[in-house]
Amino acid sequence: MTCRKIDGKAVALAVREEIAVRVAQLKEKGVTPGLAVILVGNDPASEIYVRNKGVACEKAGMRSETVRLPEDTSQEALEAEIERLNRDDGIDGILVQLPLPRHLDERRALNAIRPEKDADGFHLLNAGKLLEGEETVVPCTPKGCMRLLESAGVEMTGKEAVVIGRSNIVGKPMALLLMNAGCTVTVCHSKTRDLAGHTRRADILVAAVGKPGFVTKDMVKPGAVVLDVGINRVDGKVCGDVAYDEVAEVASAMTPVPGGVGPMTIAMLLQNTLEAAEKRA
Ligand code: NDP
Repeated sequence: MTCRKIDGKAVALAVREEIAVRVAQLKEKGVTPGLAVILVGNDPASEIYVRNKGVACEKAGMRSETVRLPEDTSQEALEAEIERLNRDDGIDGILVQLPLPRHLDERRALNAIRPEKDADGFHLLNAGKLLEGEETVVPCTPKGCMRLLESAGVEMTGKEAVVIGRSNIVGKPMALLLMNAGCTVTVCHSKTRDLAGHTRRADILVAAVGKPGFVTKDMVKPGAVVLDVGINRVDGKVCGDVAYDEVAEVASAMTPVPGGVGPMTIAMLLQNTLEAAEKRA
């Protein structure tokens, strides 16, 4: 079987071009979408992510503000900063870069963001709306995965979908989105027995584990569509959770790493911010 590469880079580029057009239209009405990113401490990986988000914002014509707070910032100081941004009419999206230093309460910080400005979709109210199948701000990575499935023309109604991973930021919202789209969904995790028995039934398989090369050919149903969310570093090289070359022998379509889900995450962050600004306008 020939495996089609689902080109996340190309889809993300198209999404970002579409966003830039909508940003320009909003600007004509006097509204410039703005995203604020709060970075606490000096984690080098977070620094890179935050810089990339700022650059992407500016390229799309949006306003970007990065708030840097010292590692020893108190919960109160962090929430005061979030509150300042909640009140800033020029800011449509607020993102708290995770992970936060260990002394800070992540859940409290995320819930301090006004739900309409919750660019990551991590506020409990937005998570609850997603659970109910209501329209809401959807977490960027799973939202990007859904967009990739749509762009690849994957029919979802009635399909068996298996998500490996149950984190609040990827696995769980991904499972809900697939369920809302009409799939029959199984969520697997570290306590799952006979993982391959589940994954081999999947028409759509999403790997969000964080272990390089975790999904192998024998775990994949012939003809399955495989989305690889994982970002792992091995000998300085970025790779996903799926053993790409061998799985490509059986899958019908698959996202590569890099160049698959990753570029979509940032594109969806811009989209969430734009949609909030459109509501404001
Ligand atoms: P977490 O570590 O929060 O979750 C990993 C999940 O994998 C957990 O639910 C865990 O199970 C499960 N798991 C671990 N080992 C196994 C196993 N042996 N068998 C089955 N399941 C297992 O990670 P995230 O969800 O935050 O991220 C997952 C991956 O996606 C990471 O590589 C991360 O870097 C990447 N990522 C990529 C993004 C992108 O833009 N492309 C964005 C966000 C994340 P349990 O719950 O039982 O511990």
